[in-house]
Amino acid sequence: MESKTSANFLQTIVEEDLREGRVKDVVTRFPPEPNGYLHIGHAKSISVNFGLAERFGGRCNLRFDDTNPEKESQEYIDSIQEDILWLGYRWEGEPRFASSYFGQLYAWAEHLVRESLAYVDDLSAEEARQLRGTLTEPGVNSPNRERSVEENLDLLRRMKAGEFDEGSRVLRAKIDMASPNMNLRDPILYRIRKIPHHQTGTDWVIYPTYDFAHGQEDAIEGITHSVCTLEFEDHRPLYDWFLEHLPVESRPRQYEFGRLNPSYTVTSKRKLKQLVDDALVASWDDPRMPTVSGMRRRGYRPAAINRFCEMVGTTRKDGVVDVAMLEFAVREDLNEHAPRGMCVLNPLKVVLTDYPEGQVEELRLARHPSREELGERGVPFTRELYIDADDFRAEANKKYKRLVLGKRVRLRGAYVIEARDVVTDADGNPTEVHAVVVPDTVGKDPADGVKPKGVIQWVSAEKGRRAELRLYDRLFNVEQPGRGGQDFLEDLNPDSLQVVKEAWIEPSLAAAKPEEHFQFEREGYFVADRYDHSEQAPVFNKTIGLRDTWGGS
Ligand code: ATP
Ligand code: MG
Repeated sequence: MESKTSANFLQTIVEEDLREGRVKDVVTRFPPEPNGYLHIGHAKSISVNFGLAERFGGRCNLRFDDTNPEKESQEYIDSIQEDILWLGYRWEGEPRFASSYFGQLYAWAEHLVRESLAYVDDLSAEEARQLRGTLTEPGVNSPNRERSVEENLDLLRRMKAGEFDEGSRVLRAKIDMASPNMNLRDPILYRIRKIPHHQTGTDWVIYPTYDFAHGQEDAIEGITHSVCTLEFEDHRPLYDWFLEHLPVESRPRQYEFGRLNPSYTVTSKRKLKQLVDDALVASWDDPRMPTVSGMRRRGYRPAAINRFCEMVGTTRKDGVVDVAMLEFAVREDLNEHAPRGMCVLNPLKVVLTDYPEGQVEELRLARHPSREELGERGVPFTRELYIDADDFRAEANKKYKRLVLGKRVRLRGAYVIEARDVVTDADGNPTEVHAVVVPDTVGKDPADGVKPKGVIQWVSAEKGRRAELRLYDRLFNVEQPGRGGQDFLEDLNPDSLQVVKEAWIEPSLAAAKPEEHFQFEREGYFVADRYDHSEQAPVFNKTIGLRDTWGGS
């Protein structure tokens, strides 16, 4: 319902809070766990959180939710910051870390113990699980639940001092083992984990659970609107319980929205990590990955990603969004921003037999058809050229609008030529086409009135440059990988990467800077690879085709 009436119900909530004076300054945060690279779902969360702050003149913090040191690393911390900045957002002040609140969180744990609202439990994980009950049956109190405050305090301090083994004890909240909400059945607040932390080193051997940390971190930072995804809705009563029973200074309110799941994509960090660890993709920023850094390397611009995040809306419904919407946003953005260039993927030589050997005409072509301010580029025209092998046939019917023996075609931005002869190899495949130039046809129709059948792209064989092209397709073959219960890896598209080692590009393209975007006429949008491209050895990644041709329709 909400999704129909308001594209972003959170804006309405914040507006009302401001109007009614419930909040003065809007403070939000983006709280990633540094256990992987950011993906398209995080981009959505970033656009929601930073977007609310921006819209209402507030602030948005970046907070690393680093309560689980085992899976976290500095590499992830660095990449997350880089990606947020690249998307065009600026957090308030320095990045924050949940780990810098460990002292405060621990003090609050002792506070709960003193209030008889938390206890140290010695049950094994298996025993605890058995007493926990099920969705339909209440749980059973732990035999350790009624320990005295003194004993609990002593045990907790000894846990902290490292006296006990991992897994031998936990600190639990004393709430209600019969609650219909499983999250309230004496949830764990602290675990013993004897591993160093990337921020706090060996200072701690006990770590707070995500649930005990998250809401309080928001309270410490004075977050007014604590926005998260729907799976945390059932945790909200627990977060509220903590805020009620702890001497916190502020009371953040939590709001949940539906996760963004584009079709043909996985947005679980665990699965994305598996793709990297199993070398099914080259890296986290492999251009096929739905990570922010992968999309960047693929050639998506931040504006397109942000636009898509707006287009899908912010609702209280989980669901799969057609990835074609993302691709649409990317295409629309690049159509406007990408200068044009010519590239031949599957080269076939054309010799213009009546064009003087050694002559070079420097043609001037617009870099963009509708944006004059992007200027022109020089495109050298010579006697020997490459065209795409698909753009020539010895014979063809009328529907074929390219070069045919005895017929004319226009070379984009240059002359009309007429094919006269073809040289073939032993199998009859064309290896060279001989053609003549129809005089005085740059920007003009032929004087004899015989019009060309179409326009094709070309590159000078003498002045053009070889380039490597990496052509990408969707990483998965099905809308919802793993949906039918099969391993999601079974749904991988085996043809998601194709490398063309010897494409030909017009010479000015070799000088492209890494991450420069282009539309290669008739072929699609391409970007100079962020790492591998150089003027000496040009490498371009295909961002997306010119039209939505997926699905073979
Ligand atoms: P995963 O389940 O892949 O581990 P996560 O949700 O645990 O992802 P976090 O690093 O905790 O990853 O996410 C940071 C923020 O981004 C959280 O507020 C989370 O709700 C939000 N987020 C993560 N995935 C999505 C998604 N697909 N759509 C919208 N928001 C998301
Ligand atoms: Mg999470």
